[in-house]
Amino acid sequence: MKLNDNRLLRQQAYVDGRWIDAGSGETFAVYNPATGEEIARVPWMDEADAERSVAAAEDAFQVWRKTTAKERAAILRRWYELMLEHADDLALLMTLEQGKPLAEARGEVLYAASFVEWFAEEGKRAYGDLIPSHKTDARILVSREPVGVVAAITPWNFPAAMITRKAAPALAAGCVFVCKPAEDTPLSALALAELAERAGVPAGVFNIITGNPQALGAVLTGSDKVRKLSFTGSTGVGKLLMAQCAETVKRVSLELGGNAPFIVFDDADLERALDGAMASKYRNTGQTCVCTNRFLVQDGIYDRFVAGLAERTSRLKVGAGIEADVQQGPLINQAAVDKIQAHIDDAVALGAEVVCGGKPHDRGRTWFEPTVLKNVTTQMCVAREETFGPLAPVFRFKDEAEAIAMANATEYGLAAYFYSRDLARCWRVAEGLEYGMVGINEGVISTELAPFGGVKASGLGREGARQGLDEYLECKYMLMGGL
Ligand code: ADP
Repeated sequence: MKLNDNRLLRQQAYVDGRWIDAGSGETFAVYNPATGEEIARVPWMDEADAERSVAAAEDAFQVWRKTTAKERAAILRRWYELMLEHADDLALLMTLEQGKPLAEARGEVLYAASFVEWFAEEGKRAYGDLIPSHKTDARILVSREPVGVVAAITPWNFPAAMITRKAAPALAAGCVFVCKPAEDTPLSALALAELAERAGVPAGVFNIITGNPQALGAVLTGSDKVRKLSFTGSTGVGKLLMAQCAETVKRVSLELGGNAPFIVFDDADLERALDGAMASKYRNTGQTCVCTNRFLVQDGIYDRFVAGLAERTSRLKVGAGIEADVQQGPLINQAAVDKIQAHIDDAVALGAEVVCGGKPHDRGRTWFEPTVLKNVTTQMCVAREETFGPLAPVFRFKDEAEAIAMANATEYGLAAYFYSRDLARCWRVAEGLEYGMVGINEGVISTELAPFGGVKASGLGREGARQGLDEYLECKYMLMGGL
């Protein structure tokens, strides 16, 4: 690996401003999914390490909470600038540990940095209220205070952005932060810690601990010193962590699975819908929680849409993320390959037809051919389960009411997309979709400026935007009497 700045490759955890090993001395390997090579070893930490990190964070909170928003903003701004300065190295590290194409990795680094920039600014606007009082000799004031020690548990599909989307509002609000990144992708997290340190984030304010998820998770959810958990990952683990947080009544933000519908009405602009479909489906090789999971296409445009999607899909360049122009990297692991194959086999057994792709890619390892299925029905697994891979199943519908009913027939409610040129229909459908986010004639909706999050089993809370700061603030109501 050729980094411009080798100090961005850290193989120790970052706690209380120090680079440390696990108390046990144990480590685990980080692999490049494109080659299977071991690229680094990082500490395999356990409960005792997590306890120490939480205690350090709690101490740091007493100082950090008293800094001014403007002081915190200056440090965050510097962190943001360092991320931009080192974007190439951060992108390379990410591609090596995660597999996404280098251009996408660079895009994620900029996206990750954008949260730090936004919340550096937004943190200054954590305004309170002065409420007209119910008594002439009293005043009602509401201030907003940082929640306290925040724990984060983050996934491998966005190794940098899922951390900054939580850490930036937390730090801006005056909270301190302890994060356990996914075992597959700790290097991006540790590189962010290196840059945080250079930016002047004080010791104990931003901590990264790596290792045993159950052990670290038990402390992060169980400790009464931790006042909030922010989690991004699967719905199953999210439910478990939420239950673990119940004992200490922690605040929780959860960003969980999705089953995103992408609806194409007969009156859609077909080319625009195809552009959106490709972007929404194949980003990160289909491994994002807002990737389209189900294409719902109206009768009159169905055949043209399937043909266009298959034509574009079969042109996608598959390869290792560091190769030029590659658009589809390997999947994260063999389980991901098995899942996509199982979804295809189930659909085909029940009458679906493979239009392109359909099997593991000739390159071997965890590459899979980008696949389009037609004549897909709601009896098939793909109607209910999130595939998290490059599989585009295309369902058919007759009218608007049926499309909305199909779209909502899921326990999930994260992102939905639809294409139509009828303004009244756009309002009706957007309001009828039980989702936290709706792309209307747009296939990519993520931006630090807008509130990202889901309803139903897709989660709780919002990240990014003004709303993202609220997640890290508590109201305090003060009644001042005897005036
Ligand atoms: P995915 O299926 O995308 O890997 P997971 O929900 O399994 O999603 O993982 C998301 C994050 O949750 C990772 O950091 C992982 O280590 C962590 N995790 C998984 N299981 C647990 C657990 N029992 N306790 C705490 N963290 C966990």
